[in-house]
Amino acid sequence: MTELDRRRFLVAVAATMAVSGVCWSSGSKHTLAHADVLGSAPGPINPALPKLLPPPGPDSRVALPGGGVLKQLPGTGDLLAWTVDDGVDSEVVRLYTQFAKDTGVRLTYFVTGAYRSWTENSALLRPLVESGQIQLANHTWTHPDLTRLSQHQIAEELTSTDALLRNTYGVNAAPYFRPPYGHHNATVDAVAADLGYHIPTLWRGDLRDSAVRSESQIIEMASQSFTPQNIVIGHLNHAPVTHVYGQLVDIIRSRRLRTVTLNDVFLRPETSRRT
Ligand SMILES: [Zn+2]
Repeated sequence: MTELDRRRFLVAVAATMAVSGVCWSSGSKHTLAHADVLGSAPGPINPALPKLLPPPGPDSRVALPGGGVLKQLPGTGDLLAWTVDDGVDSEVVRLYTQFAKDTGVRLTYFVTGAYRSWTENSALLRPLVESGQIQLANHTWTHPDLTRLSQHQIAEELTSTDALLRNTYGVNAAPYFRPPYGHHNATVDAVAADLGYHIPTLWRGDLRDSAVRSESQIIEMASQSFTPQNIVIGHLNHAPVTHVYGQLVDIIRSRRLRTVTLNDVFLRPETSRRT
């Protein structure tokens, strides 16, 4: 067994124990044992740690910007909108969702509907979606560069994922869509807006893990991008990020940031129109 395999095995064992409800954190002994074995390697989330700070209450929600793209949260404050995209690897989607469940971290998933992750993980994910801790938004059906498609094709890409999210999770993902690669133009925005997706949602911080990155690179990018009022993009595609959840949460906790979904920050359009 290589060192990497060994670490993965230990993390998997710990995850299994956590899932099966084995209380390995009640004594610091067990946690210490893990730390000793793993050395400086990333370990599992310690459920004994305090939960993250709660999001602001519904009264502090603000109206969505009228036009243009969304790249950061408005104003000054202590909020962090951590968003994760695609869902290439069903196991990464499962582990991210379990991570949210274990820590209380609030996330927005930009769903690429064609991946089987979104049906395979629906039982685990649905309660978190229903409670609002995880928000689902639209990241097209097959992840094309929308600027190269016809209007009809753009509409199909968005409506297919829209239908999946309605049918599988009972949610309306609008108005938030993220154009793959961040590529959009006036035509894309107009077709999307016609379907209710009038907020092209980009980002200001980036974990840069759409390709495979090392664990230390991901921690470094999180350190740079987990800053107040940032919208940060990560990916549900490759395993390394799932090995550093503890370190990522430590950054959030030490900076006293509050993780939020987009719905935690902005009024839903129906509500905005009424006010
Ligand atoms: Zn993507």
